[in-house]
Amino acid sequence: MNLKNKVAFVTGSIRGIGRETVLTLARYGANVVINFRDHNNNRDLAEALKKECEAFGVEVLLVEGDICHEDDNTRMFKEIKSHFKRLDILVNNAGITRDNLILRMKTEDFNDVIDVNLKGTFLCMKQASRLMMKQKSGRIISLSSVVGVMGNAGQVNYSASKAGVIGMTKSLARELGSRGVTVNAVAPGFIETAMTSSLPEEIVETMKSQIPLGSFGQCQDVAEAIAFLASDEARYITGQVLCVDGGMAM
Ligand code: NAD
Repeated sequence: MNLKNKVAFVTGSIRGIGRETVLTLARYGANVVINFRDHNNNRDLAEALKKECEAFGVEVLLVEGDICHEDDNTRMFKEIKSHFKRLDILVNNAGITRDNLILRMKTEDFNDVIDVNLKGTFLCMKQASRLMMKQKSGRIISLSSVVGVMGNAGQVNYSASKAGVIGMTKSLARELGSRGVTVNAVAPGFIETAMTSSLPEEIVETMKSQIPLGSFGQCQDVAEAIAFLASDEARYITGQVLCVDGGMAM
């Protein structure tokens, strides 16, 4: 795949699927925008990732900010516009979980997950739409989840947010189709990242028994699907949910 001279913004991109996506898009030639929140050693991780991407000969911009804070969100897109003058690919990757069975789930846990996974994604979609409609081209790819398609005990907040991402994707695909912008979602199954590393062993074994391919996926599996949807080869695909889940949801 060739993404040379494209500009790609991946939210929440210093670890896990986001990190792998930034590296993959850079490897295919895209200039990349790395997003991180200024906690702990995040800036150092972002600087290290910038160097790794630059080794592919692409230009890299770091933007610090929280996607669900409207001021941060607006500022980050302004920084991208002023640096690159355009945005070709938005990957809405940033996401959180606050799992619990419903009777134990605090309203705060529900609100936090909706705030990041749904409102944060909406704010980014809105900013990107403004730029891409003017350009008459663009790719918006959002991370949903197999849990947004099938549901999962202990995740009513997360599954609501990820089903919501699918709804937003389909609606926006209808809004932006005539402007040359495609809008799709990728729904990973269980992928080996920090998000899944804390799952108890018995849950891991139960989950694996429901996956036809028999194992958890790798971040690279998801990143390659995102790169495909971002490429010119996917020009006639919009409003779709691509499951990268070893066959779990079918
Ligand atoms: P992760 O927890 O490893 O990384 C998430 C990243 O998002 C982190 O860098 C975090 O700092 C960032 N982030 C969180 N809230 C943010 C905010 N408000 N503003 C900016 N950045 C923020 O997660 P992951 O496993 O790599 O998952 C990435 C995406 O894929 C998420 O949307 C997740 O829901 C989805 N997903 C993951 C899996 C899986 O098995 N790991 C499965 C299905 C879907």
